[in-house]
Amino acid sequence: MERLRQLNTGVIEVICGPMFSGKTEELIRRLRRAKIAKQRIVVFKPQIDTRFDEVQIVSHSAQKIASIPVEDTPAMKHCLDQLDAPADLVGIDEAQFFDHSLVEFVEGLANSGIRVIMSGLDQDSKGQPFGPMPHLLAIADIVTKQYAVCVLCGAAATKTYRLPEQTDAQVFVGASESYEARCRYCHQQDTSCL
Ligand code: ADP
Ligand code: MG
Ligand code: ZN
Repeated sequence: MERLRQLNTGVIEVICGPMFSGKTEELIRRLRRAKIAKQRIVVFKPQIDTRFDEVQIVSHSAQKIASIPVEDTPAMKHCLDQLDAPADLVGIDEAQFFDHSLVEFVEGLANSGIRVIMSGLDQDSKGQPFGPMPHLLAIADIVTKQYAVCVLCGAAATKTYRLPEQTDAQVFVGASESYEARCRYCHQQDTSCL
């Protein structure tokens, strides 16, 4: 990663994995380091995700960083166009909730020299690729796939299990009251650990 930075080009970094795998923590860690390096950073999150806070990104371990809630990619572009000086780094949490236009948008940012770091769910609770994530993973320069701890057996969890009483829609924003991290085996079992 540092080597790519030294080439002075933009870069697309994607942090993916199931819920509770530390995607937001890792995004916040990279953003904090960039702040120490005096980079100008702008952080977006989808307006739909107000689970913990309206304007901050908050991890399940209560780490936080200021962010701008936006509805879509034109809203991100609008924010970036308003800046006095261009951003060095654009962070985007919960990238799976944006539509496919995010792909072209972040490619444009990276091609113009901006470091883009996105975190998002690679799979929905049915194990299917989520929103623009497959395409983002394909075009990314750096991909980090993280694992949580399976709440049933303690193995590495690559999947997000939606507790049975929840809706069937792909987008349903919730946290530990609605979802569990599970390994591939336990994700196929219809039992709750509660
Ligand atoms: P993500 O953004 O991937 O949903 P967060 O960065 O918000 O994850 O939170 C990660 C934190 O969640 C962990 O550091 C840990 O404190 C907590 N956590 C709660 N349940 C689990 C679990 N089953 N596996 C791993 N971490 C968990
Ligand atoms: Mg998160
Ligand atoms: Zn398991």
